[in-house]
Amino acid sequence: MTDTIPPVPLTLTSRVDQAFPMLTSAQIARIAVHGQVRHVQRGEVLMEAGEQTPRFFVVTAGHIAIVRPSGVTEELVVVLRPGQFTGEVTMLSGRRGLVRIRAGEAGAVVELERDYILALVQTDGELSEILLRAFILRRVELIAHGFGDVVLVGSRHSPGTLRIQAFLTRNGHPYASIDLDRDAGVQALLDQFQVTVDDVPVVICRGVVVLRNPTNGQIADCLGFNAAIDHTQVRDLVIVGAGPSGLSAAVYSASEGLDVLVLETNAPGGQAGSSSKIENYLGFPTGISGQELATRAYTQAQKFGAQLLIAQSATQLACDRKPYAVAIDHGPRVLARTVIIATGAEYRRLALENLAQFEGVGVYYGATFVEAQWCGDEEVIVVGGGNSAGQAAVFLAHTARRVHILIRSGGLAESMSRYLIQRIEETPAIVLRPHTVITALEGGDHLERVRWRDNQMGTSETHAIRHVFAMTGAVPNTRWLGGCVALDAQGFIKTGADLSPEDLAAARWPLARPPHLLETSLPGVFAVGDVRGGNIKRVASAVGEGSIAVAFVHQVLHE
Ligand SMILES: Cc1cc2nc3c(=O)[nH]c(=O)nc-3n(C[C@H](O)[C@H](O)[C@H](O)COP(=O)(O)OP(=O)(O)OC[C@H]3O[C@@H](n4cnc5c(N)ncnc54)[C@H](O)[C@@H]3O)c2cc1C
Repeated sequence: MTDTIPPVPLTLTSRVDQAFPMLTSAQIARIAVHGQVRHVQRGEVLMEAGEQTPRFFVVTAGHIAIVRPSGVTEELVVVLRPGQFTGEVTMLSGRRGLVRIRAGEAGAVVELERDYILALVQTDGELSEILLRAFILRRVELIAHGFGDVVLVGSRHSPGTLRIQAFLTRNGHPYASIDLDRDAGVQALLDQFQVTVDDVPVVICRGVVVLRNPTNGQIADCLGFNAAIDHTQVRDLVIVGAGPSGLSAAVYSASEGLDVLVLETNAPGGQAGSSSKIENYLGFPTGISGQELATRAYTQAQKFGAQLLIAQSATQLACDRKPYAVAIDHGPRVLARTVIIATGAEYRRLALENLAQFEGVGVYYGATFVEAQWCGDEEVIVVGGGNSAGQAAVFLAHTARRVHILIRSGGLAESMSRYLIQRIEETPAIVLRPHTVITALEGGDHLERVRWRDNQMGTSETHAIRHVFAMTGAVPNTRWLGGCVALDAQGFIKTGADLSPEDLAAARWPLARPPHLLETSLPGVFAVGDVRGGNIKRVASAVGEGSIAVAFVHQVLHE
């Protein structure tokens, strides 16, 4: 490690005071009650990168350096002086630490186990604010600078690469990316790990494990996303799905003292996480990206002690036993006294023969900054006339040369909010094409051309457009329930007063009381958000339902 240590963080350009605050002696004293003073020698490693149970240090004398190991050398990330502390969001999640912590000179630190930090952020309002803000800002910087324990070697033209990029980004995990088509010197790296070009995408995990075209689950395993979570205990509440409704239920239940586990197939945020900007959610007058909202909610849920299993899908609900058992696609089943189903809905796919060939490489179901980057300033198509289509079009128009909105109907008035219609009308780069449908997709490794038909004029045209955003609504994720709960004609889950006497008789409802609000035909199993019949498909209603369901979970647990 270098001897010339700069006095300020190397990477941060703004909000340095908040990312690396100086604690007062009174605040340090409150922390020290839960920890122990440790004297350190110059060069001593306090914590190694990749350790599964991160510990927390406050510097009280001397200085410590946060470094990133790189082979036999180290790259200095930041120097912490008396009053400053270590840690970032892995402190909440219990995932592997990303950096090495080394004493820069002889001195002293207060050392704490992670459990005490979790308790502190739940009980000490002042320290909670300081620590959480610092942890989040540090993670933002790590992501911005690709300071992670993952290198992704891939190509912009490979769906696998795009999938992994989206998985890491939406899980807020920092990574460095090497594009085979653009970056020189790739071959040397591939040779080092005995990887051929045919193996891409390749994920190099913690500098040692090489995964060839891994599943999201394999990446989660390698990075230890779920390692700190105990599968075996019977939970007060298992929440399936970590979209806005599931995360809301997690925040309310964990903050009210329940032992809660959340299962999530992909990444926190759900559909909302793929929204470029949510402008109608209360309290965010200038809008908030779905990714940011999800990250905040996830951190908040963890702060209160909720645990989240990432890249683990519920595959079955065993509803003929108590406690209920939720089977997951790999790993042991989890046991639950109560269950909240928050699995949302899946995008409707365009009815085109070769659609699968272009999914992820020209056809997308979300419009975030990730997809916008892939499109650059090219022309794009947005299919659909709902609010999500409108938002995507307005967002993409910032960077794309032209955005064509294709709708079957004659106009947007029936299906889209007035404010979005107005935005579209005021944006010259957006062209609305009513009565128009895509009839063919053409290309090789990537979408190259789109053919569309104007049903009113009876004309067809082919355009050299390489990016299509399909925003045509969704179908509920209820297949895994295997008949355990009553569904409506469209497959959405029936709850509360929507359950008819016939539904309850068919389900053999065993209790004298009727189902609670949001309770399904199975006692103690609730449904919230987009997966629920009659739900208003909005972030606010999903969040509201998540919180309401928790109130009834308490009642069921006391029955
Ligand atoms: C592009 C876009 C933009 C939008 N913009 C807005 C907006 O501006 N304002 C607004 O109010 N609403 C907006 N919406 C709608 C809003 O996002 C949804 O109403 C909201 O996300 C529903 O939340 P949810 O938690 O019920 O479901 P979802 O968000 O669908 O989340 C469900 C989660 O469950 C997971 N899951 C599914 N099956 C399983 C399983 N078997 N096991 C484990 N996990 C599973 C999924 O991976 C997903 O993460 C938008 C939607 C989209 C697609």
